[in-house]
Amino acid sequence: MQCYKCGRGAGLILTTIAYCGRCYAEIIEKRVRKKIRGSGLGKMKVLMVKDRLCRHFIDKVFGKSGKRIVASGKADAVVVPCFLEDEIDDFMIKIAGNMGLRENRKIIKLFDTISYYEMRQYCKLRGIKFKAKKTSLDGIEARYPGTKHAMMKSIKELRACQS
Ligand SMILES: [Zn+2]
Repeated sequence: MQCYKCGRGAGLILTTIAYCGRCYAEIIEKRVRKKIRGSGLGKMKVLMVKDRLCRHFIDKVFGKSGKRIVASGKADAVVVPCFLEDEIDDFMIKIAGNMGLRENRKIIKLFDTISYYEMRQYCKLRGIKFKAKKTSLDGIEARYPGTKHAMMKSIKELRACQS
């Protein structure tokens, strides 16, 4: 198997496409960067980050930019380790309960485009400890690879219609 991006030997699958370790890690980082940019964190001065993995990415992007990272107290936004599966679950609960779909813009779900499995692979590559959660969607994903991301895409479209 060859890496879809660089042609080197590939051993990792990301949403049904094969990549080498280096390209795989880069894609995950790029996705988180995109999320960070899209959520306006760049303009905020004080961020609340409690989770170690979130901190890893926030530091990677902002480094020594003068941003203040706090674990409690007042902050412009709260960064949380919410994954693709958590986001789908949350959406289903809101639909079932007929609740509004509007999101709190001060809560930044850093990993909502990344599944637990994908993050586990990334953490292995980067030498970070991470325990992936088993979710109700894993069975469907095993039978129909790409389902989780397809669901997330639909959710985003529905949300865009609502706001
Ligand atoms: Zn590659």
